[in-house]
Amino acid sequence: MSEIIDIAIIGAGVVGLAIASEVSRKHRDVYLLEKNDTFGQEQSSRSSEVIHAGIYYSPDSLKTRFCIEGNRLLYEMGDKHGIPCIRCGKIFIAGDDEEAEILDGLYYNGINNGLPLKMLSQEELHKKEPYVKGMTAFFSPTSGIVDSHALMRYFVLKARENEARLVYRAEVTGIEKIHDGYRLQVEYPDGEDFLDTKVVINCGGIYSDRIAELGGIDIDSAGYRLFLTKGEFYSVGGGKNRMINTLVYPTPQNLGPGIHVCLDVEKRLRLGPLFNYVDQVDHSVDESNRSIFEASTIMKSLPFITPEDIAPESAGIMGVLYGHGQGVNDFIIRHEDARGLSGFINLIGIDSPGLTASPAIGRYVAEMVDEILG
Ligand SMILES: Cc1cc2nc3c(=O)[nH]c(=O)nc-3n(C[C@H](O)[C@H](O)[C@H](O)COP(=O)(O)OP(=O)(O)OC[C@H]3O[C@@H](n4cnc5c(N)ncnc54)[C@H](O)[C@@H]3O)c2cc1C
Repeated sequence: MSEIIDIAIIGAGVVGLAIASEVSRKHRDVYLLEKNDTFGQEQSSRSSEVIHAGIYYSPDSLKTRFCIEGNRLLYEMGDKHGIPCIRCGKIFIAGDDEEAEILDGLYYNGINNGLPLKMLSQEELHKKEPYVKGMTAFFSPTSGIVDSHALMRYFVLKARENEARLVYRAEVTGIEKIHDGYRLQVEYPDGEDFLDTKVVINCGGIYSDRIAELGGIDIDSAGYRLFLTKGEFYSVGGGKNRMINTLVYPTPQNLGPGIHVCLDVEKRLRLGPLFNYVDQVDHSVDESNRSIFEASTIMKSLPFITPEDIAPESAGIMGVLYGHGQGVNDFIIRHEDARGLSGFINLIGIDSPGLTASPAIGRYVAEMVDEILG
């Protein structure tokens, strides 16, 4: 191709799709390049599908900002465009005094973030979820569930309506700075080609650090190196997978929220994810972790589920910036003009709550692009 296009987005997960649907409202010549056969084959189709409220993160973080805005937008989009979203709420549980203290801290962090949380008495807990046990609990009414596939299909539809081009089996393997933009080297099944673009938006998920590196950024000094964490889910059988109506979370653990109740939009119950750092991408479930599920605090809160009821189900892998006690627990969304890379936008470390935040991130990045292209 000899002409230069306006915008190339790398990666058709929920974040790249949300951005494509937003930037293509105003700009023509938007290409979304995806290495897989279709959209949403990686993190975005392997999540817990929870619409988070924005309780966990510090008030000044991008995670809090985009989670709260994304939460509102998702319910609005659900109502307006028929994307299945359920505002079922979430109960946070503490089982003993030590957990109750941690839960208190979480509650006040959420209140500080402006959320309408409510402490529950034993009676209120029992009324909401008769089969759930806990010493203290609070309720988050704005938490819920979204059908992530329906959400992605909606973004695809919007992007196509706006004439964005979604190109599958197109892996970006090189990025070279040229006079008025970037030359992308792209591997297609039938060979290699080049695409010149004024703006590059890196939404490569767990590979986004490598894509930044292709653009010439030293990812270690920039603090962009990602660590992989695998989250494993267990299904709940034995006729017990419809006994809960609300998301139920334990007191937060070292690596994330801890194994919790996941419900899909049909209210089918499963447990997870159990997160562990991994070195490679392998979505199999390690059966030796079964004992950790059996001994988990969430199982203590759900005494009606016995070890025989649970079975390994699926796993998803996130790329996080906070590996092994280092790094930061926030999103990086940055126009790299200060590095001399005008028109290069990186999105790195878009781990949870990235699904919830996606519509808000789409709008934010579209504003960045407007500033660049005018
Ligand atoms: C187990 C688990 C549970 C989670 N639970 C929740 C939850 O309940 N709620 C929530 O809000 N969030 C949750 N998340 C986080 C959420 O899933 C992610 O934040 C979100 O899906 C990130 O979307 P993405 O588009 O950035 O990444 P991805 O979905 O991974 O998409 C990135 C895309 O880039 C493509 N790509 C990469 N490199 C290239 C290249 N060189 N060329 C072309 N294409 C490329 C990939 O093929 C992929 O399709 C969870 C994640 C996991 C793993």
